[in-house]
Amino acid sequence: MADTSATTSATTGAAGAGTGPGTSASTAEPDAIVIGAGPGGLAAAAALQRRGVRTLVLERSDAVGASWRQHYDRLHLHTTRRLSSLPGFAIPRAYGRWVARDNVVRYLEQYTEAHDLDVATGIEVSRIERAPEGAEGWALPATGGRRLTARAIVIATGTNHTPRTPDWPGRDTYGGELLHASGYRNGKPYEGHDVLVVGVGNTGAEIAVDLVEAGAARVRLAVRTPPHIMRRSTAGWPAQATGIMVRRLPTGLVDRIAPYVERISVPDLSEYGLPRPDNGLYSRVLDGSIPVQDVGLIAAVRARKVELVAAVESCDGDEVLLADGSRITPDAVIAATGYRNGLEPLVGHLGLLNERGRPTVHGSRTPKEAPGLYFTGYTNPISGMFREMAIDAERIAKSVAKALAKR
Ligand SMILES: Cc1cc2nc3c(=O)[nH]c(=O)nc-3n(C[C@H](O)[C@H](O)[C@H](O)COP(=O)(O)OP(=O)(O)OC[C@H]3O[C@@H](n4cnc5c(N)ncnc54)[C@H](O)[C@@H]3O)c2cc1C
Repeated sequence: MADTSATTSATTGAAGAGTGPGTSASTAEPDAIVIGAGPGGLAAAAALQRRGVRTLVLERSDAVGASWRQHYDRLHLHTTRRLSSLPGFAIPRAYGRWVARDNVVRYLEQYTEAHDLDVATGIEVSRIERAPEGAEGWALPATGGRRLTARAIVIATGTNHTPRTPDWPGRDTYGGELLHASGYRNGKPYEGHDVLVVGVGNTGAEIAVDLVEAGAARVRLAVRTPPHIMRRSTAGWPAQATGIMVRRLPTGLVDRIAPYVERISVPDLSEYGLPRPDNGLYSRVLDGSIPVQDVGLIAAVRARKVELVAAVESCDGDEVLLADGSRITPDAVIAATGYRNGLEPLVGHLGLLNERGRPTVHGSRTPKEAPGLYFTGYTNPISGMFREMAIDAERIAKSVAKALAKR
């Protein structure tokens, strides 16, 4: 693992400033602070540093790539190695075409080391504030009473920040085990158990398959809206490459073409309870829902090893009530029901979020009313997030370097 030792020299006014976890002796105040040492933050920091911008990364956990360390064991990138590399240091060939979770973590460590990034771990930023009258830039109150300042701030705290479990009536008194997918590691604890997975995004689909392979006695998958399903790769051609090709086309056109492609590559699963969706693939992507990349769901559904059931409506003691009126009593419910980006405490008071809590600007655009603040990683593009964060990183670095040079 890379030595992510860090400088906290930009801290002011706090006892213990500069002596936090993993600190080092750098004394210069950074020009830019990046919040979050996931792929988005690390890519931005590397690009900034390459342009001569002194950059400090703040990470609340004790290591880079915290989100990837917590994902379930069998996870691989659904996007290809080549199209997921971050700027300035490619994912090693040895990690294969579909990079395993552990190798993603290793890559992020290597990336940090290769670029000699300054990462201060164990520092959580709680809020972004304007610098006091007369001073330029931004001030960040952080863990331990620290207060850091910089002219440019890149917010890269991740769109999968806060696990979201629907507030089903009766949820709090549900008698079975209820776990959000973020807490799921592997199917071992569920061997011989009856499990209900809620939500058929990429995570829910893959966890259902994982449970089957781990020997769960029964696996049901609750579906509210049938997903678009794509093969991860067809005759060697990755779905991601198609995503890159079509992403600049008009939404309506892609929506009209997609069903033909889906019909050729994915069998009709209606008889198993998973009809083809009647809404457009690309419209759904723009609304935040990317297609499910098949890594075993189709086969498991056709073998009736994963049973599709209606959406969850509520809980009642040991029972789970479904939208079709049925009541089931699984041993465990795994809620693959997504995340919130949790940006409100950080920037909500600055008026930079829309009604869905998403930043109103992204990438190299910095808000007029908050110059010097940048966001990366809060979209869910069909072309792959690693790829888009890599592109954003270069653009953000260019914009920050230009703004600093003007001063
Ligand atoms: C299961 C899953 C599979 C995915 N597979 C792919 C894929 O195959 N290809 C692809 O391109 N994308 C994929 N993604 C999407 C995306 O690329 C990843 O979620 C990626 O990790 C996002 O990077 P990020 O840097 O924006 O956020 P994260 O990786 O979540 O990193 C954010 C970092 O910020 C830190 N942090 C948060 N709040 C604070 C704070 N207040 N102060 C300090 N630090 C903070 C966190 O600890 C974390 O380390 C996947 C996502 C999930 C959930």
